[in-house]
Amino acid sequence: MERRTLITAALPYSNDRLHLGHLRSTYIPADIYYRYLRKRGEDAVSICATDEHGTPIAVRAEREGVTPKEIADRYHVLIKDDLEGVGCAFSIFSRTTHPIHYETTKAFFLKLYEKGFIYEKEVEQLKCPRCDRFLPDRYVEGTCPYCGYEGARGDSCDYCGRYLRPTELRNPRCIVCGERPVIAKSKHWFFKLSAFQEELLKWLSGNDKLPVNVKNYALKWASEGLKDWDITRDMEWGVPIPVEGGEGKVIYVWFDAPIGYISATKVWAEQIGDKERWRKYWGKERGARIVHFIGKDIIYHHAIFWPAMLMAEGSFGLPYTIIAGEYLTLEGRKMSKSRGWVISVADYLKLLEPDPLRYYLVMAAPLDRDADFSWEEFVRRYNDELVDILSNFIHRTLTLLTRYFNGKVPKPPHLTEKDLEVLSSIKAAVDKVAENLENFKFRDGLLEVMKLAHLGNKYLNDTAPWSAIKSSPERAAASLYVAVQIVRALADLIYPFMPFSAKRLYKMLKLKGEPENTPWEAAKEKLPPEHELGEVKPLFKKLKSEEGEKIRRSLLPREERQMAQVSLEEFYKAELRVGRIVEVKELGREHLHLVIKLGEVERSCVARIGGKYTREQLLGRQVVVVANIKPATIRGVRSEVMLLAAVHDGEVVLIVPEREVPEGSLVR
Ligand SMILES: [Zn+2]
Ligand SMILES: [Zn+2]
Repeated sequence: MERRTLITAALPYSNDRLHLGHLRSTYIPADIYYRYLRKRGEDAVSICATDEHGTPIAVRAEREGVTPKEIADRYHVLIKDDLEGVGCAFSIFSRTTHPIHYETTKAFFLKLYEKGFIYEKEVEQLKCPRCDRFLPDRYVEGTCPYCGYEGARGDSCDYCGRYLRPTELRNPRCIVCGERPVIAKSKHWFFKLSAFQEELLKWLSGNDKLPVNVKNYALKWASEGLKDWDITRDMEWGVPIPVEGGEGKVIYVWFDAPIGYISATKVWAEQIGDKERWRKYWGKERGARIVHFIGKDIIYHHAIFWPAMLMAEGSFGLPYTIIAGEYLTLEGRKMSKSRGWVISVADYLKLLEPDPLRYYLVMAAPLDRDADFSWEEFVRRYNDELVDILSNFIHRTLTLLTRYFNGKVPKPPHLTEKDLEVLSSIKAAVDKVAENLENFKFRDGLLEVMKLAHLGNKYLNDTAPWSAIKSSPERAAASLYVAVQIVRALADLIYPFMPFSAKRLYKMLKLKGEPENTPWEAAKEKLPPEHELGEVKPLFKKLKSEEGEKIRRSLLPREERQMAQVSLEEFYKAELRVGRIVEVKELGREHLHLVIKLGEVERSCVARIGGKYTREQLLGRQVVVVANIKPATIRGVRSEVMLLAAVHDGEVVLIVPEREVPEGSLVR
């Protein structure tokens, strides 16, 4: 049975642009695999879409005063640009707000409901008394019960990475109005995940295609015992619940997102005018393979939730495999959007070509291990590998052919054993690259490509056609005949990894067609004598150190620059002074209105220390304030100075002078 492959790449969340970590873990591996299968002439479709529901988008829309759909519209286009800019184009790049997605998700939900795998249950939820609404997921923030991080959100803690329920947060607050929420009852729908524990364990341990990092992670979870899963939320933005009593609630984004893989395939089928074609990939017939590419942070969703959903539904095939790319650190540190420690795809593309990035991200480490993006290492690989090994070999071979043989492939009079050996290693390399790609070993595949280029360089040095041309022109012809065959093979072999360069090399070699529609095995074919070459240009040019330095400065995130650059002069712009608290009034639950005496003058100060200090503890205390902070109105009260306090684990501790000093004293 001929295989048919559906390649999916994790749906990017439609509220931010992509960064290098996304490319490394998910999109570049998926793209390499897709390009490879297509080049093999196989039936392969690649699917992606923006994931457009959930609280982060809803919350952001609320803050910006626009609709969630407007946020999703904006980022759908930008994310598509990011992906296409690095060559990751899919058969379809759909959206989870597409009507077909709503239809598919509702039908999926209903089927599970009718089969008894979805049941209703009253649960306790956080509700904001001031806004009079429930606070799902990111509508609430507070202190992480595990690590004490203050900015933890209702669904997860950014700091320790744990998943949370809103009711677990300590000191929760409504992110819209700041009020402390109360607990209220609400009806939710649960997916009977626990019913699939045995089946999942069996599937996970029996699937020999699952990579170890995915299998071990999922098995650990599954064997610890699975809990039923709340798949609805009290909010408006999302796919409506298709059963009675679901008004004002929607299906949880993590339930609808993976269904996006199915709905995007349907949208694709409709676009190509073959409406039922999607079934060929999602059915259970032999030969259909669903290959999910994801980042390691969502293994749980893809190796536990999703297969269980599919098992419950019953009519679709289960994933053939799940390829999970591990994290990419930046200069040795964890990337963090909130801390600004990332390089966006868009910023990279403003300065450099996509192929060296694709190369680097594959080469930096095997996909199932963490990798690091370091500028120094990027420049090193660029110059020492792409330029010195790959580009120089190609350039030397082609310019020598232009110089000695009028830009034509020479007719080799006699090939030595060594020549024949090199020619046969081309064939072996083509097979080795293919074997690695079949097994999702992208780095090993690329290493084989580079090994072949390296062999070409060595062969050229050993046979030295530039000196042989005088003493034995026939030897020079043989040498360049062999070398150009390696170049020819490289044009196809680099294609899945570096498609833009492959296209350029095709032009230089005047090969017919384009790399994407030339079969994989064409890499084994030889350029015939008399074949004419095109115009020769270097594939990659060395990054000079001044140029590299300039790019580094504009590419590396702002955080570091800011950290290094608070001058004394700038610091002194903040006027820190000692003051005495002379009045304390309560202002809501969290805030206190203080009057602080600074020498001759008194200043109003609204501080978020409510519940931390009593009026008695504060009155008469000496404290430190920023005296020249830009005044702001907080809770309807003008605040003219800012109180300094140490903040840790939900605690607030005032900064006070070690002993009394005259009020108004400068703090330096
Ligand atoms: Zn935490
Ligand atoms: Zn509120």
